[in-house]
Amino acid sequence: MQPYQPGKATEQWIQQLGLSELIKLSANENPLGASPCAIAAIVNALNTIHRYPDGACTALRDALSAFYQMPADHFLIGNGSDELIHLFGVAYLSPGDALVMAHPSFVRYAASAHLNQATLVQVPLTPDFRHDLCAMADAITERTKLLYIANPNNPTGTIVYRDELEPFLARVPDHVLVILDEAYYEYADHPDYPNGLDYVRAGQHVVVLRTFSKAYGLAGVRIGYAVGRPELLDPVERVREPFNVNVLAQVAAAAALRDQAHVARTRALNREGLNLLREACAQLGLRSVPSQANFLLIEIGDSCAQVQQRLLEQGILVRTGEAFGMPNFLRVNTGTPEQNARFVEALTNALRT
Ligand code: PLP
Repeated sequence: MQPYQPGKATEQWIQQLGLSELIKLSANENPLGASPCAIAAIVNALNTIHRYPDGACTALRDALSAFYQMPADHFLIGNGSDELIHLFGVAYLSPGDALVMAHPSFVRYAASAHLNQATLVQVPLTPDFRHDLCAMADAITERTKLLYIANPNNPTGTIVYRDELEPFLARVPDHVLVILDEAYYEYADHPDYPNGLDYVRAGQHVVVLRTFSKAYGLAGVRIGYAVGRPELLDPVERVREPFNVNVLAQVAAAAALRDQAHVARTRALNREGLNLLREACAQLGLRSVPSQANFLLIEIGDSCAQVQQRLLEQGILVRTGEAFGMPNFLRVNTGTPEQNARFVEALTNALRT
């Protein structure tokens, strides 16, 4: 049996392992797929693909402006929020500057520090896997330009609470741009979960990143957005490519935004899935981290890589926390009820083997 290799295309696994199908629960995608409205919008736009896209994403920015009741100039659209993370690094970081982030957290922040020869300052999460905002504030120096908070955090699914974030923001000096990465915003339902846009609306030195890849089910067309005061977005606007967001992604995102019923279904399915997975872990004697995102981090122990391999042999692809420095943990996203049940069954087998 070939050992698990991260990044291998699912079709290759299916062929190599002789599987009839592979249930992919490794990339925090939406098991319901995209909204039918988004798919229809793409089909409708197919006869325009010989034209360059609108480089300013005007229709989508207007749609976001109406949706959030904020000026259109507060939105900058990217080829996924990955691109925006990259561009904020290019725009804000010079060699010798510093970027502060939690560890473990989303790996692309670290990549943007490396790319721009900035010092990467990683502040360990607390023992309950949450951002340590006091330690992050203490880690700021006069060279710090960017500070990332993934809320909810990937790979832990934990959040920072409003009453932690607000005193923290008050402490951060003005030469530091705080980026609240809310890729999983639509899934979070904790009453103390802060909406980053409140701080943008209040004129704070904060930018929020959101994406259409997760709850909106559009990961494959690549589209995300930054929200902030225009003067904070301008440096990024100046370094982005003129046509960074393709025409199909633009129309799909605008249509997906209108279909909030699809988002609500996605959210409900996820909450049900998380409850089921948490309960199953408890019954198997496994610790899992309470999640406000669409995935769950499960502590497996030393045999984690083997368990991942045994899941793969049963047709289920999940990630270990290896890349995040948590090799004893599995990260699994919620699927359809059937996929969740298959995962629990396969995990039970994998632990027994
Ligand atoms: N931020 C976080 C915290 C993520 O987990 C991800 C994707 O997994 C992204 C950003 C990037 O999302 P995308 O580039 O698909 O918008």
